[in-house]
This record gives sequence, structure tokens and C-alpha cells, in this order.
Amino acid sequence: MDTNRFVVEVKKTPKKSDAKTRVTNFGEIYADFTPNEASHQSSRCAQCGVPFCQHGCPLQNNIPDWLRLTAEGRIEEAWQISSATSTLPEICGRICPQDRLCEGSCVLEQSGWENVTIGAVERYINDKAFEEGWIEAITPVVERPQSIGIIGSGPAGIAAADRLRTLGYKVTVYDRHDRAGGLLTYGIPSFKLEKEVVARRTDRLAASGVAFALNVNIGEDVAFEELRDKHDAILIATGVYKARRLSVPGCGSKGVVAALDFLITANKVGFGDQIADFDNGRLNAKGKNVVVIGGGDTAMDCVRTSIRQGAKSVTCVYRRDRANMPGSDREVANAEDEGVRFEWLSAPKAVLGDADSVEGLKIQRMRLTTPDAQGRQAVEEIHGAEADLPADLIIEALGFEPENLPVLFNEPGLEVTRWGTIKTMAGEFQSMVPGVFAAGDIVRGASLVVWAVREGQDAAADIHHYLQTEALSAANANSEALSVGAAE
Ligand code: FAD
Ligand code: SF4
Ligand code: SF4
Repeated sequence: MDTNRFVVEVKKTPKKSDAKTRVTNFGEIYADFTPNEASHQSSRCAQCGVPFCQHGCPLQNNIPDWLRLTAEGRIEEAWQISSATSTLPEICGRICPQDRLCEGSCVLEQSGWENVTIGAVERYINDKAFEEGWIEAITPVVERPQSIGIIGSGPAGIAAADRLRTLGYKVTVYDRHDRAGGLLTYGIPSFKLEKEVVARRTDRLAASGVAFALNVNIGEDVAFEELRDKHDAILIATGVYKARRLSVPGCGSKGVVAALDFLITANKVGFGDQIADFDNGRLNAKGKNVVVIGGGDTAMDCVRTSIRQGAKSVTCVYRRDRANMPGSDREVANAEDEGVRFEWLSAPKAVLGDADSVEGLKIQRMRLTTPDAQGRQAVEEIHGAEADLPADLIIEALGFEPENLPVLFNEPGLEVTRWGTIKTMAGEFQSMVPGVFAAGDIVRGASLVVWAVREGQDAAADIHHYLQTEALSAANANSEALSVGAAE
């Protein structure tokens, strides 16, 4: 099929299960495109000489090329191009906020024709590659003697492991959790990303010779120094996990829980694990009035998980309005369809109840101020405007900060920024400690999967360069010593 068909072909997104059905289970809500839909939707691409979609993608994916090949039914070649720039394309195709990235930059969207459905086509191509068995275990062209220890098996760690193993290095990935995948496994719920989709990537790495050392908390179970002695280079890809907490009267009650505790538990239960705090109701929304505080993707995941667990009511409290929400618009719309109520321009004022349980949340109504010279609007209280929301479970989704890694790893040389993220050399991924690299959220602060993939891949390239330079200097020093020895 030709391309440039946006004038005759209307934009279609993959089938989405209706809200009533989807809240009864944790399955992904979007289906894959059929082959016909994928080629028709790809044929809408205008094959721009300067593809703005590619600039909007943090991985700089060669989008027009794989769209043209998909339109022509050449899916294997489309997959080869798609996987050349991305180690987790079917995952990004599912969970990137495309409206803010590739699809938001598509010239068709900018000119009123509606964007090409890039993410859904990327997902289709790479799911097809798994189905057809095109994606095999990695067999490096050369095996190298050096080994790399990666701390963290999230997207940054996985992306780096993939690239480093392809280059022939020995790779061990350490993680404090019992399953690999980082937030792909234990943060993001399966209605956005089914766990098999993550596992087939980590299983492939294991089949390629990457060793996974799970249930190992670096800094507690194994000293960072020990890891440095064991490996020729280290990549820190630990993400950010220190939850920001509420500071209002009553916030210490047991009925107030952190978002990740709730989501990790829900994901573990989804794997069939027995979790005491789920069984005893502490981290279970069933039959409860749930209030989630926050306006990002984590808050959206909490409200939608609560609905699926059978909550009596679910309310999201956010201090700004809908237009100023940090979460993806698509996810807010999905949450609304599924029955979540939003209290916009409302801030928590007090938790009602006692130390063991909560009864409600007192909220303070807010308003946006007049925009400043830069057009930014702050929020301010509307005096006397308060309300009480009934709540049996309050979930805080207020964002995350880095843990204190120099202390945890007992490595003061590991410099951090004023936000606690790891400082790297300008334009590189090497930290201030030679041979120790860092990538993903621990460098950028809480961000997106696609950025973690990009940084993991780039950090792998830096590690390769570092190890090759080290090997070369060692060889030169050796040959100098030999020639001095021969002269003596
Ligand atoms: P992580 O994925 O956090 O992985 C870090 C890993 O390091 C973890 O497995 C952790 O156990 C391990 N670790 C940490 N410290 C140690 C230690 N000392 N020893 C051993 N192991 C350690 N992004 C999107 O693009 N789309 C979304 O829809 C989306 N939804 C999200 C929903 C939620 C609830 C959250 C919290 C985030 C979401 N994000 C989303 C953001 C995205 O998940 C992160 O930006 C991304 O996972 C960061 O990748 P990472 O590899 O840097 O870290
Ligand atoms: Fe779009 Fe994300 Fe895929 Fe890039 S990786 S093309 S931003 S969906
Ligand atoms: Fe195709 Fe849109 Fe990219 Fe242009 S900007 S190449 S139309 S996807």
C-alpha cells in the first residue's frame, strides 16, 4: 500500500475494551492492531523530509521508515529498523505518552489531519516479531573478558544489559526485588502493560547469558565496594524510590499509605503471591471509599487499580485543574470513563480518623492566580472553602525523590546534585567515580520509560568506550614494560 493516504484514510486507534468490561479485570485495555489496520494506519504517513515525529521521540526512532515498510506489508524489515534504535519498542509503543512525544509532533496533527498512530504501529510490529520468532537470544560476535555489574533491572538497566551483552561483555544485573523489570513489573499496572510483555524481554536477556541476581539489595546485602572489586565497570540504574509524604494533621494514620506500597502489592497479588497486608485489608481497596492524592501517572494508576479491586468509591484530589495536571490526558480520560471522581483545585488539609484507621479527608478549595509574566499560574487557598470527603483508605501519590546513594553505598565520591540525583560528567554517563556510570531516573529524576531506555543504551556505549580505552592503556603499559625489560 502507498503512503501519503491521510486524505482518504481516517485516523483509527486500536480497539479499546469498554469501561464496564475492563474494570472487571487487570488485562490490557487496548488490543493490538490487526495486520490490515496496521498497514492502513501506517499508509497515512506523509513521509516528511524533515520528520518532526522523530524529533519528538527521545530515542530518535526512524519512524517514517518503519511506517512505510508496514504500509507495504514488509513487517520483518520494519521490525529490524524499529529495533535498531530501541531495545524495548513494544513497551514504549504501549506506555509512552505519545500525545506529548512522537504523535504530538507529527505534522499531520499540527496541520489538522490528526496524527499517525505511531505508538500502536510500533507495538504491532514488535509484538509480531515475538510471535514470528524473529527475536532470538543474543549471540555476540565476540566474547569479551570484562564484566559489568548493573544495579537495577528497570528499563535503564535492561536496555544497557541488552546493548552490553550484544557487544560481548559478561553482564550481571542486581535487583532488590524478587522479579526483574523495575517499575515495569512492580509500578505500572498490567492494564497498561501486561507482565508477560516485560518477562519475555528479561527472559530473552537471561537466555542470552545475562545473569540476574535478584533479592539482592546493594548497600545492604552486598557492599557497593564488593561489587566494584568484582566488575570492571558498574552501572547504577536504581530509579527513585523515596516517596514524598503528606504533612497535614493526622497524616501518620495507618489508613494513609504510599502509592508504591499499594501498587507493588497489587502487582504481586496479580502474580499470585500471598501478601499479608492485602489479605488483612491494609493495602486492599475492596469495599472502601478510596481517596488518592496527586495528579500524575502514579495517581492515575492508583485510582484505576482501586476501581478494579472493587472500591466503593474512588476520588482523586489534585491541587490544580485538569489542564495543569502532569499525568497523561489519555490516562485521566480512561480513569473518568472507569468511574473515578476528580476533585480539582483541592488540597489536603487534614486526615480525619485516628492512628489506626481513617474516616475522611478534609480538603481546602484552591484557585489559580493570575498568570505571571511567563504565563505561569500559582495556586492559592480560597479562605473558608473546605469540604470533607469520606475515606477508608488514603493513598499518597505525591512523587518520588532519590534515596541517599552516597550514604547507602558508602561511597562519598559519588557526587549528587542538589536534588539528590547522581551527577555525571558533562555529556556523559560516567559519575564522578571512575568506572561507575549512572542512567535513568536516578540521573534525570522521576521521568519516563522511554528516557530510561535512551539513557541505558547511551550509558552502555559510554561503558564500552571506557573499557576499550582501559584495555588499550593496559596493553600499552604492558608493552612498554616488556620493552624496558628487554632493554635491561
Ligand atoms: P526503575 O524502573 O525504577 O528501576 C530501578 C530498579 O532498581 C528497581 O527494580 C529497584 O528495585 C532497583 N534498585 C533500586 N535500588 C537498588 C539497590 N540498592 N540494590 C538493588 N536494586 C535496587 N513512564 C512512562 O513512560 N509511562 C507510564 O505510563 C509510566 N507510568 C508510571 C507509573 C508509576 C506508578 C510510576 C511510579 C512510574 C511510571 N512511569 C511511567 C515512569 C517510569 O516507570 C520510570 O521513569 C522508569 O521506570 C525509570 O526507569 P529506571 O530503570 O531508571 O528505574
Ligand atoms: Fe513514540 Fe515512544 Fe515509540 Fe518514540 S519510543 S516512537 S516516543 S512511542
Ligand atoms: Fe509521518 Fe507524521 Fe512523521 Fe511526517 S511527522 S513522517 S506524517 S509520522
